[in-house]
Amino acid sequence: MIQVTTPFLPPKEEYKAYIDKIWDKNWLTNNGPLLNELELKLKEHLGLEHLLYVNNGTIALQLAIKALDLSGEIITTPFSFIATTTAIVWENCKPVFADIDPLSYNIDPAKIEACITDRTSAILATHVFGNPCDIEAIEAIAKKHHLKVIYDAAHCFGVQYKGKSVLEYGDISTISFHATKLYHTTEGGAMVTKSPQLTYRLAKLRNFGFKTAESFDGIGINAKNSEFHAAMGLCNLKYIEAIMASRKKQYLFYNDTLRNLNVEHQTIHKEATYNYSYYPILFKSEEQLLKTKAELETNWVYPRRYFYPSLSSLEYIEKQNTPISDDISQRILCLPLYHNLTSEDQDYICRILLRAQKY
Ligand SMILES: *Cc1c(COP(=O)(O)O)cnc(C)c1O
Repeated sequence: MIQVTTPFLPPKEEYKAYIDKIWDKNWLTNNGPLLNELELKLKEHLGLEHLLYVNNGTIALQLAIKALDLSGEIITTPFSFIATTTAIVWENCKPVFADIDPLSYNIDPAKIEACITDRTSAILATHVFGNPCDIEAIEAIAKKHHLKVIYDAAHCFGVQYKGKSVLEYGDISTISFHATKLYHTTEGGAMVTKSPQLTYRLAKLRNFGFKTAESFDGIGINAKNSEFHAAMGLCNLKYIEAIMASRKKQYLFYNDTLRNLNVEHQTIHKEATYNYSYYPILFKSEEQLLKTKAELETNWVYPRRYFYPSLSSLEYIEKQNTPISDDISQRILCLPLYHNLTSEDQDYICRILLRAQKY
């Protein structure tokens, strides 16, 4: 059986060494020493000034909305993981969908302005599959209309845009370190901003609103993560270069072996580096996708329809017209891609794909 992904696990001995440290210190959570070490190492690795580690990428989005005091309408992308939209709804704001660009799969800046009303407070855009949005165009619109910008950079570990981390853009960027992501800490996520004031605000929101041990500054929630999760993060960080190198190799293998497959690929931003987080292919029709997916599953290969369905079709969201997102989400399939996927397995997958398009 070949799944779309399997989480990386570090050598057990290395994780155990951190567990011993946790036992020695008897400190399990509440911003402990391993968590601080992880934040420091992540900032170093990614070249960031501020980063706050939290318990998942969804709460990171919700705290970003909270910290920026957003209300009313937030313009967002219908082509993302469900959490991008539910974070908005959960924070009592209304998601307004601007359709996507058919080549980058990211929110189309040309569609954003038509969505702006006097209730719009922000733009929440996803860098889909680690491919940066048209950041300049989004910034220009935000500046003109006095809107905040949040980037859901859940897929963007290690991605550089114009020579610096893509997480540095927007008022706040968020990332996920869930087990299925390129870099993971079992569960986890982070919030990144260049603003020291926002960092301070987010840090309080993460910890019940505590200002000192006996006083509060506004409301907060429990978004802290544990020493056990930080330990996993510290172990995995040592292997991230190797993980990315093997994914790159696999990515190029697919590109080469599937060059005659009748599908399209995402167009990657020219000024961005690529992290090989996913291998999406866009079929000519949903029918072609379903036929191929069934053939793969018959042979114990489990790709994933990602992102599907388009978020504008959610029953608790007011119906909005996003034909491009609807169309792409019906035709897109992510192939298995993970650190220890063998070229034999990839060859097997490719042969099924190529055979399926003949019928
Ligand atoms: C994974 C993901 C999230 C949510 O992250 P969790 O850590 O699972 O809460 C949000 N947005 C996108 C685009 C994702 O892929």
